Amino acid sequence: MSTPAPAIEAVELGKSYGTGAKAVHALTDLSFTVEPGTVFGLLGPNGAGKSTTVRILTTLSRPDAGHARVHGIDVVQQPANVRQLIGYVSQKPGFDPVATGLENLILQGRIHGAPARDARSRAAGLLERFDLTGPGRRLAGTWSGGMQRKLDVAMGLMHRPRVLFLDEPTTGLDPQARLELWAEIARLAREDGLTVLLTTHYLEEADHLAARLAIVDAGRVVAAGTPDQLKSALGGDTIRAGLVRQSDAGRARDVIGAIPGAGAVFAEGGALHARVADGAAVLPAVLAALEAAGIELASVGVARPSLDDVYLHHAGRSFREADRLDDREAALL
Ligand code: ADP
Ligand code: MG
Repeated sequence: MSTPAPAIEAVELGKSYGTGAKAVHALTDLSFTVEPGTVFGLLGPNGAGKSTTVRILTTLSRPDAGHARVHGIDVVQQPANVRQLIGYVSQKPGFDPVATGLENLILQGRIHGAPARDARSRAAGLLERFDLTGPGRRLAGTWSGGMQRKLDVAMGLMHRPRVLFLDEPTTGLDPQARLELWAEIARLAREDGLTVLLTTHYLEEADHLAARLAIVDAGRVVAAGTPDQLKSALGGDTIRAGLVRQSDAGRARDVIGAIPGAGAVFAEGGALHARVADGAAVLPAVLAALEAAGIELASVGVARPSLDDVYLHHAGRSFREADRLDDREAALL
């Protein structure tokens, strides 16, 4: 038997917005594969190209280069066939706030061609599935943010897709609502066999939910694998040191960098991250050298690599720094 086609294949995707000197190269050579029935995470800071990728895979935008398939079907050549297979929950809310939850779902079903009775029973089933039966008869605009997000996901499931795309599903949710949605997303893959591609700029979300993930930076995949693979591939430990005075950061980086056994050292605001082979062995030398240089520490610790360290290693800057920089760029637009 031949192996089944992957649920999603993105091959060397390229996409630019605008032309000439003002062109924004949103994607350059972006590739990844998603196996059926798994949760796959596209993790990257704001502006990395996550939404652009999802819009191409959901047939809403065309790539300039490369190609993509969903269950073997090309998104550019056969978009209508792809759309039957997929559900899409965009970064922005998609429900109608002045319709009830039930009405939103039924309308969604009707748009996809379901007969009224089928749409109604599917809608009722989904409300129950997401624990929204009670509020289902109230206007969706009156619901909490977490409930509204669940409604968006339920709408994406009305036509029983095999592949669900969730673009930043938990952005803006409080921690409790985020945990609830995580549980629902995990259940979709585990119990219903759905393939889920989610984008996120939350490291802990990708770490928690994604069986495999691709870290995207500036329109390229810089690392891919299971969260554990990515972390253990780095090897060694990370020493994190918080400085009393942020102005010491540059000097502290030089001091730690000169210690034998210390690898790459990054400064981020008032914190330093140093990659070392053996944290416990190198830590005393780090403390002694900083003290000799008159650099005061507010905190210090040794930890196994986190996804933050993975990103730092591959992208050459910290995840939060990248996210913040892009926010600043976005604010200037
Ligand atoms: P992400 O979803 O990872 O935050 P996007 O895919 O939205 O990233 O954006 C990638 C890059 O493309 C960013 O630099 C963004 O400003 C730019 N971009 C996205 N959409 C457009 C557009 N319609 N016109 C011009 N530039 C765009
Ligand atoms: Mg986005």
